[in-house]
Amino acid sequence: MSVNQDSQDNQVSKNKLLVEAIANGTVIDHIAPGQAINILRMFKFLGKHNHITVGFNLRSGNLGSKDIIKISDVTFSPSQTQQLAILAPNATINLIEDYKVVDKYNLRLPHETVGDFKCPNSNCITHQEAGATPRFKISRDGHGQVLMRCHYCERVFEREVVLKFNGLDE
Ligand SMILES: [Zn+2]
Repeated sequence: MSVNQDSQDNQVSKNKLLVEAIANGTVIDHIAPGQAINILRMFKFLGKHNHITVGFNLRSGNLGSKDIIKISDVTFSPSQTQQLAILAPNATINLIEDYKVVDKYNLRLPHETVGDFKCPNSNCITHQEAGATPRFKISRDGHGQVLMRCHYCERVFEREVVLKFNGLDE
């Protein structure tokens, strides 16, 4: 066995440790590297008492890396799942009951988000009128960048700009 193989085996056993089974809750797997911290901030899990395991930049297949989050005793509502899908399109959700995966599905980028994010444009009417619930149309450009277009001011923002404005990005 080569030295290289050895370190790969170590990596695998470390990963196994991080994805150790939880009794009940949700495992969000295949999160793009760097997004796990935003998910924790967005759902304010860090200040609560749930047991949380987070892995950053874990090896994913032969190429690339991923983040993973395991949260005990939490399931996501449909609207939370939509928010989650903006931060982690293509992530895999595993619902765990009694240590077993009872449901598993892939997230898909939603077409629209309503009321989840404030518009970064300070002149946008959503900042003046309480009745104007912020909403964005969501798309991807040719490079895979997620774009969010405000329904009211019609400005288009990169996802990261919206996240940062909403205190969700570094
Ligand atoms: Zn706007």
